[in-house]
Amino acid sequence: MKIYEDSRYENSSCACFMARNEREKFLVVTGGAKAGDFEGESLLLDGKKVKKCPLNVFNSRLIRVIFPFTAPITARGRKFSIGLGDRLGIASPGHIKAIRGTGAFPILAQQSIRELSLTGRTYDEVLSDATWAVLQEGYEDGYGADGDHLKSRNEIETALGAGFSMITLDCSEHIGKSGHDSIPGTFLNKYRGKNFKLSNGVDIKITEDIFDETMGIYGNALKFAEEIFLDLLKDRLDIDFELSIDETMTPTKPEAHFLIAAWLKDNNVQVLNIAPRFCGEFQKGIDYKGDLGLFEKEFIVHQAIAEHFGHRLSIHSGSDKFSVFPIIGMITGLNCHVKTAGTNWLEAMRCIAYSQPDLFRKMYKYAVKILDEAKAYYHIYTEKHMAPDIETLGSKNLSALLDINESRQILHVTYGFLLNDKASFREKFFTTMYNNESLYYKYLAEHIGRHLLALTIIKT
Ligand SMILES: [Zn+2]
Repeated sequence: MKIYEDSRYENSSCACFMARNEREKFLVVTGGAKAGDFEGESLLLDGKKVKKCPLNVFNSRLIRVIFPFTAPITARGRKFSIGLGDRLGIASPGHIKAIRGTGAFPILAQQSIRELSLTGRTYDEVLSDATWAVLQEGYEDGYGADGDHLKSRNEIETALGAGFSMITLDCSEHIGKSGHDSIPGTFLNKYRGKNFKLSNGVDIKITEDIFDETMGIYGNALKFAEEIFLDLLKDRLDIDFELSIDETMTPTKPEAHFLIAAWLKDNNVQVLNIAPRFCGEFQKGIDYKGDLGLFEKEFIVHQAIAEHFGHRLSIHSGSDKFSVFPIIGMITGLNCHVKTAGTNWLEAMRCIAYSQPDLFRKMYKYAVKILDEAKAYYHIYTEKHMAPDIETLGSKNLSALLDINESRQILHVTYGFLLNDKASFREKFFTTMYNNESLYYKYLAEHIGRHLLALTIIKT
């Protein structure tokens, strides 16, 4: 048995630590008034009676109450936050190692419904995994949990019920369904055909045409956001609210961002973040594709709008966007939210490439085979015929595929299919990861470290 020394905690309710043996991790409860409440089995350890408890949802709820630092909290009052969703439920300790001491506030749990269905997990399980990671690392600086891209009241209630601290509302199903007719006259008179000067000298011209077009596209979505906020979030000062409008066909015009923020403000809908769709492409698992000069020019205007209304910009699909990070860091003064997009899975595959080359070969070939199916879920440029040939690579060079855009994208979008293939891959994958835990943490800390460096959160 190996003990995670940083997980030793004790108060009147519970004395405990986390440990692992060859097969599994668990919690060892050695005393305290609430010791009897945990699920688990009694056994003797060094002649002392203790309780060995599974790292399950039930026990994680108890731990969050007994040691409140293990429960997610609001990101309000923090400047820079970073979404580090852990698709596998094993990456968060590595993420904590990467951000500890940097001042960045981590959103350790961050999953969309799409990710939950592809991985077969629930919000309860996602938060449970984050809780155990925080205890394992003895990380007391606070973290958040984001129900990402939620589209319905039902989904939001599920995430809130599980104890999530952040809701990202995706209004895409309400966007573009002409909502102009019922715009109140007061809002119309205040903004239609009016000009606004933002604090840094940026001019926003809301012509009559732009007003009509924007409210036509976003009117219904805004009413939906207002309804959700008033019904579920208004009295929840412990919950952060983000509005995402990034999953649209075209980039968000600054005027549209301005009107959306104005509507929310005038209707007392308090958002911590707004996620516009920026120009260029933020594809999964690879660097930014587009005109950096244009990106910077538009980003300055979006940031000015955010400062004007008092919210932060949220940048989605932020994994590996190294060429735009310096711009984002500089223009926001590191007062923003960046969501990384599950590349911890690719770092896991780097571990597999290193420690189980044969398994990696099989997984890669399967990923190429089913790429077209997986592409239904994610927008990437890579086509099957562009797949790098794995046969030409020797076992020691397999990880090169994790540094080539096309093979990165192929492995990135097929994770659900690979993990759901229980007979061929799932069990072997998780066993290998379990046996190479420290290597995985090292890869993750390096990978996220490169993000923090480019964003200028950390220097050299
Ligand atoms: Zn998004």
